[in-house]
Order: sequence, then C-alpha cells, then structure tokens
Amino acid sequence: DAPAAGKLCTRYDLEKETELRFEVEAGEAAEQVELELLTGMAEVFGSELNRNKKYTFGPGSKIAVFTWQGCSVNLFGKPEAAYVSKDTPMLLYLNTHAALEQMRKQAERDNERGPRVMVVGPADVGKSTVCRLLLSYAVRVGRRPTLVELDVGQSGVSVPGTVSALCIERPADVEEGFSVQAPLVYHFGSTTPGTNIKLYNKLTSCLAEVFSQRCEVNRKASVGGCIINTCGWVKGSGYQALVHCASAFQVDVVLVLDHERLYNELKRDLPHFVRVVLLPKSGGVVERSKECRRETRDEKIREYFYGFRGVSFYPFSFEVRFSDVRIYKIGAPSIPDSCLPLGMSQDDTQLKLVPVTPGRDLTYHVLSVSSAEDGEEGVRKGIVESPVCGFIVVTNVDTQTQVMKVLSPAPRPLPRHTLLIMDIRFMDMK
Ligand code: ADP
Repeated sequence: DAPAAGKLCTRYDLEKETELRFEVEAGEAAEQVELELLTGMAEVFGSELNRNKKYTFGPGSKIAVFTWQGCSVNLFGKPEAAYVSKDTPMLLYLNTHAALEQMRKQAERDNERGPRVMVVGPADVGKSTVCRLLLSYAVRVGRRPTLVELDVGQSGVSVPGTVSALCIERPADVEEGFSVQAPLVYHFGSTTPGTNIKLYNKLTSCLAEVFSQRCEVNRKASVGGCIINTCGWVKGSGYQALVHCASAFQVDVVLVLDHERLYNELKRDLPHFVRVVLLPKSGGVVERSKECRRETRDEKIREYFYGFRGVSFYPFSFEVRFSDVRIYKIGAPSIPDSCLPLGMSQDDTQLKLVPVTPGRDLTYHVLSVSSAEDGEEGVRKGIVESPVCGFIVVTNVDTQTQVMKVLSPAPRPLPRHTLLIMDIRFMDMK
C-alpha cells in the first residue's frame, strides 16, 4: 500500500498532548489523504495507530491525530487544512473515561450495573466523536460497552432515519469506525425527531427495554454500561426527549458538550443522583453545512447497498407485486383535538399505522423491512415496536401492472412483507 508516486508528503513532529488536525476535500473527485505513523505513539479518536502502516481517509473526512507521548507522522496528499493544536480537551475526556472505569470496577465489585452515559449538546460539538472515544477506551481496557445511537440525522450505526444499539467488542477501526455486526435497529423514518416525537420517545423506550433485558442475562454487558449518542436538537420537545431518554435508560451520567444552559436545565430537571457534567468541545470539531449533512446521509445509504472501501457489496434489483407487500407509514397527520374521534388522543395518531397505497410518489423512497411476522390485523399492533431486518429502495413504480422495482441487499424474495416508508429518499446514481 505505497502512496501514489509523486504525492506530496509532509512530515509533522508532534509534542506530547498535541494533535494534528486535517480535513480531506469533499466531492467525488477529491484526492484521498494518507497518514503514516513514523515514531512514537498516536491515536485517532481513541484508536491507536500502528507504526508504518498507511491509513487512507476519503473525501470529507475530518481527522485529529492525537499523541499522549509525542510522535512523528507523514501526511501524503493535499489535505484542505492541516495544523497542529496544543489546545485540546483530550485530558478532560480521558479523565471522564477514568471516572467511568471506576464506576465499572465498583459495579463489578458490588454486583451492580455499570455506568449508563448520555452524551448531549447542540449540533457539531463532537458528540459522536466523544462517544467513539469513550467506547474505544472502554473496550481497550477489556469492557464490552453498548453504543446506543439516537441521532436519526447522522447515525453512526445504520442508515439515517433509524435508532439503534450496537455491542462494542473492539476499538473503532481508524479508517472505518466501529464494525457494525448485528446491530439492533428500529425504524423512525425521518431525519429529525420533531417529525414524530411520540414515536421517537417510544423507540427510545424500546431500546432501553431491550438493553436492560440484555444486561440481566449478560454480566459483561451490564458492567460495560452504555454510551448514548443523541440528536443536536436541545430545545422544546428535543429537550423533553433528552429527559425522557435519561429516565428510560436510567442514566447515571450526562455529559453536556459546550452548552451551559442545557447543563443547568438538566441539572435542574434530572434526579439528583444523576451526575451532569459540562465538558468543553474540541476546537477541532468542524461545523458541517446542511449540504454536507445531506451528503453524509446519502453516503451512508450508498454504503448500506454497495459497501465501503475494500468491501464491495452487490445489491439486487427485482420486482415486487403490490399485492405481496403491505406498506405503512407510522403516524397520521395531526388533526385538531376537537376533531379527534371520541376517546382518541394525539398520541394514538402519532403511533398509528397508516396504510400506503403504492403510487409513483413512492419512487426513490427508502423502506424498512419490518421483522414483524407477516400476518393480519392482530400483529399490526407490534409493528412499531419491532426491529427492522433491512432496507430497500423503490427504484420504479408501475401502477398499470401493479408492480414496483426495488434495490435490495439480498436476492428475492423479501424476508418479510411488512414495509415501513421513510421520508428519506435515495437516488441510485451507480
Ligand atoms: P456531533 O456528533 O456533535 O454532530 P461529530 O462528533 O460528528 O459532531 O463531529 C463533527 C466533525 O468534526 C466530524 O467529522 C469529526 O470527525 C470532526 N472532529 C471531531 N473532533 C475533531 C478534532 N479534534 N479535530 C478535527 N476534527 C474533529
């Protein structure tokens, strides 16, 4: 894996407790940047680098190479911005890890459960990065923590529009992040919790319930605890959703990144035994534009079907008869309270399954394949709370022949016939 001949090479000698930050230009045509550790030790978001191995970072990557002891590295290619910073919150983050590890040790001793941690803050403060760091540090000392991903806009685990949980068994790969094997995924259907806050809270409760059940039968999972990544929406219902999550998961620690008001509000509203900690954000965290977020989401869906870097997947395209599937949207449009049928509340409408009649407008929509057993009325109730077993994208709809064409990771037939529609669309440009 030698770098392409003629690539610009820049050497950086880093003092201890400093980091090299760089960005790779966005866009398909952008040149990748390679990183190589020459001497000393360094890590990228909590994962250690191997010496004399070249790590490749693709378009849009924003990376920090941090060293506790000092090191020297080479960068090959032309990063958009590359500079060394001495001012990082890494020591505070490491202390946070040390405190969580103390709690795990105590849990082990006293036969209790380990720390359940919720990471909160507005958009672009490095929430996902702090989660990754804490999880990688935990797994490096032999723990088996669980990542709970509640960011429906920028999920690190599955496609956008989902919430999920993943058992972490090894540190994140420097280039690719955590290995995603057998995550537990639920359908939300949109990129912001605000489109259906009732459903969002319901799914948070589902994840909490499943996690608690797992902790009861798996001691390592219980001691490892969990790290919960949340959305950047911290006002109004977004704030209420955080309070709900804290209670559903019975969190012990809340890490608030760079938001004093949120910190004070949570201290006021959460039970006194919950430790609420305010942490600074890293100056390296880069703000991402709406466009950039959209691209990241698109990329995440593309990866689901086509694979990532070295690993290529070959998705299938086949026809599905309307009559063979049942498509639902979760949540009916809200109607004024005065118009609701007697005995029905808005809650009921937000969790209601609304049958979707397939038409042209279904084209490009992402559909979740529910794991709920196919059946009639009786099972419909369980669909909202059932995990999904995969996703398909509608690529064409023929209303004449009553058939739609779908892109699917697996060959036909579909494993289940209950499909849930997302607001999210994906245009396959391959
Ligand atoms: P949030 O989850 O709060 O939206 P992220 O953790 O996703 O924020 O961080 C936003 C971006 O900043 C990511 O692309 C991440 O790789 C980058 N980033 C985080 N910390 C640093 C750092 N110290 N130096 C450079 N880039 C960073």
